[in-house]
Amino acid sequence: MCEPPAAPGAEEGNLIIDEASGDFFGVDAEGNKVKLTLEAQEKKYLDACNAYYNDKKPILSNDEFNALREDLAFSGSDVATMNRMEVMFMVAANRYAEGKPVMSDEEFDNIRRKLKARNSLAVVHKVPTCRIDTNTCKADLTVDGFKNAALYIPAVGIVTPICIMITVIQELINGPMGPIIGLLVNLPIIAAVSYVVKNYIIFQEPLVTSGSCPLCYTNQNVYFGDIVFAKGDSGKTEEITTQCINTACACQLKASRSRMVIESAMAKETAAA
Ligand SMILES: [Zn+2]
Repeated sequence: MCEPPAAPGAEEGNLIIDEASGDFFGVDAEGNKVKLTLEAQEKKYLDACNAYYNDKKPILSNDEFNALREDLAFSGSDVATMNRMEVMFMVAANRYAEGKPVMSDEEFDNIRRKLKARNSLAVVHKVPTCRIDTNTCKADLTVDGFKNAALYIPAVGIVTPICIMITVIQELINGPMGPIIGLLVNLPIIAAVSYVVKNYIIFQEPLVTSGSCPLCYTNQNVYFGDIVFAKGDSGKTEEITTQCINTACACQLKASRSRMVIESAMAKETAAA
């Protein structure tokens, strides 16, 4: 969790708390009191954590910070319980969306990957993913466990009849071994041979992922790997280019296996805005 800024020097006044209603207010450019929405409170909290950790210059007093954190936790916001790395990620994502990145793309993707591996709420928390300066939008890919398992079906379909034939031959030579023993003998062989057939013969190191098009948010599968050496390439497919399955969108998508992201160019209207 982001610790309160033990903050000598932090001036009160950045945040106004209405004692009666418990509402939080900020001050706009003209000096008017403006009620903060939950999103604005989250941003204020993240900015306060960032100011403490990175700038070493607190922007909220201890009391303001604690009151803000308590209110966010009470409102059910994930942000109030985030740890240092999650806060860094959230701040970076906000800055990235504003076109003022605070870290390189590699660093950002690296933190995103680590957090994703820990099932952190920070990576699924709603953050804008379009970047104005590079004109790209990106979304996360996740492994589609069900479809990856389904890739075994053709391999098992090929291997099982072969094993049954072998059993029949064994039984002709050695006498009947019974269905249970037959199964116990054959199961590890079916599993091992199916694995090899699936991963190295039918498909080459396949991975089925799913993600949303960063432009139209249509969920779709992205398939990494080759089918029966279709492209004559036995190496791991690192990047693939495909088209959004939503025909109304049909934008070009670029997916990266190691970074587990899918990217598109920013929509023209969005880019112009
Ligand atoms: Zn699309």
